[in-house]
Amino acid sequence: MSEWYAGGLRFECTRCGMCCTGPPGLVAFTPEEGREMARALGVGYRNFLVDHACRWAGGWALEEVEGEHGFDCTLLDREKVPGEALCRVREARPGQCRTWPFWPENLSNPGAWKKAARRCAGMGRGPLVAIEEIRRQRAATPNW
Ligand code: SF4
Repeated sequence: MSEWYAGGLRFECTRCGMCCTGPPGLVAFTPEEGREMARALGVGYRNFLVDHACRWAGGWALEEVEGEHGFDCTLLDREKVPGEALCRVREARPGQCRTWPFWPENLSNPGAWKKAARRCAGMGRGPLVAIEEIRRQRAATPNW
């Protein structure tokens, strides 16, 4: 049976940062991903863990800090470009962030996609992402 999104889905990040704030969330990462993020910031891995990570299920997750928008990821930069919320390690962001919004739970049915789109302005806009790419990202979504 072909997926309901076989014709592709539109997505273009608007850099609103909503996926990196709001209610308390969890973004787990592997040690390799942590080292990549540390490199992107130009800091040592230990320092990165102290400043940006917390223990989770025997591994690590990104730390959050409560602010006016909710619980911001500590890697979110709201200062650099007014009106935008930028990831400070965008090119090195972990798989859980990289595969958004093509997570299996968002793709389970059109209603789930619509519900997720209420918090993500990028879903449903921009260029059409082909089914092959959606499948690739869906399969790459970490299963924590
Ligand atoms: S919520 Fe969507 S549009 Fe906003 S920063 Fe995240 S991915 Fe981009």
